[in-house]
Amino acid sequence: TILQPQVESGVESQQEESLRPQNLAEYIGQKDLKQLLEIGIQAAQSRGESLDHLLLYGPPGLGKTTIALIIAREMGVNCKITAAPALERPRDIMGLLVNMAPGDVLFIDEIHRLARMSEELLYSAMEDFRIDLTVGKGTSAKTRTIPLSKFTLVGATTKVGALTSPLRDRFGLIQRLRFYEVDELSTIVSRTAGILQTQVTSDGAEEIARRARGTPRIVNRLLKRVRDYAQVTGYPQIDSTVATEALELLQVDPMGLDWTDRLLLSTMINQFNSRPVGLEALAASTGEDAQTIEEVYEPYLLQIGYLQRTPRGRIPTPQAKQHLGLED
Ligand code: ATP
Repeated sequence: TILQPQVESGVESQQEESLRPQNLAEYIGQKDLKQLLEIGIQAAQSRGESLDHLLLYGPPGLGKTTIALIIAREMGVNCKITAAPALERPRDIMGLLVNMAPGDVLFIDEIHRLARMSEELLYSAMEDFRIDLTVGKGTSAKTRTIPLSKFTLVGATTKVGALTSPLRDRFGLIQRLRFYEVDELSTIVSRTAGILQTQVTSDGAEEIARRARGTPRIVNRLLKRVRDYAQVTGYPQIDSTVATEALELLQVDPMGLDWTDRLLLSTMINQFNSRPVGLEALAASTGEDAQTIEEVYEPYLLQIGYLQRTPRGRIPTPQAKQHLGLED
């Protein structure tokens, strides 16, 4: 069973699956993580063991799910994909755990959102590969132990700080996924273009890569939109001119900022006079969800130095003002 964490529109999600790298060699970038995994996988395989539990953290779309699928494939086992909100009742997670075959990979997205009871079940499952259940109440309560196959848990989170320490401590490897460099994203564009049978020049690939906020999922999405544009306007291939025209139409600016990024920054500059502002206040003023601002928008704005976090709140930087043409 593969439980899809998000339901996307049919055709696009099928296509997205075909774009996923199938093995470590095809996985572009994240050099350190790849090296660690190569060693870990080889060592585990030569000992005939399962891989240690792995926690991946970082903004969405950087390739966490892809890593879990690649590990399973390289280890020759199955991967079950789920997300914490689907594991609210302890029996949901129990059902998954007892059905794992030896060595299987269990991928839990948004693992910082696990319900407490489900999380507590995971402790002994991760550590001793068993589930301890209390049956009955009061003096007649008994503990039942259900043995599990040895499995590998791959947890993913956008907020590593929100994990409880008992959970965090049970992961043998904790790795952060980084934003991708433009040249890495260009390589991804060329690879994806090959799969989609679309002609892209290297300038065209770079233009799309530069506007993709360091994120593979975004670079693939932008490429598809640029490809639509090229097709409808009759361009035979995607070069930097076509890419620029299409991305301007999509309101993705040369730094990759979209409408919401610009709204967040301009609200901080105009409405809050560039003084420190709290997350909730910013959410209320822009009508965006606080969690989405924190986990999706902010990381990239911080990365490119348009935003700073201070103890008193977030402030926009002079570079952000310059970019938006809002200098005083
Ligand atoms: P989320 O946490 O939001 O689920 P994620 O970090 O798990 O996101 P993935 O679903 O693994 O992200 O990746 C998004 C898409 O980006 C994939 O469909 C894949 O095609 C592409 N991708 C991710 N990482 C790479 C990579 N290193 N090389 C090539 N393509 C990649």
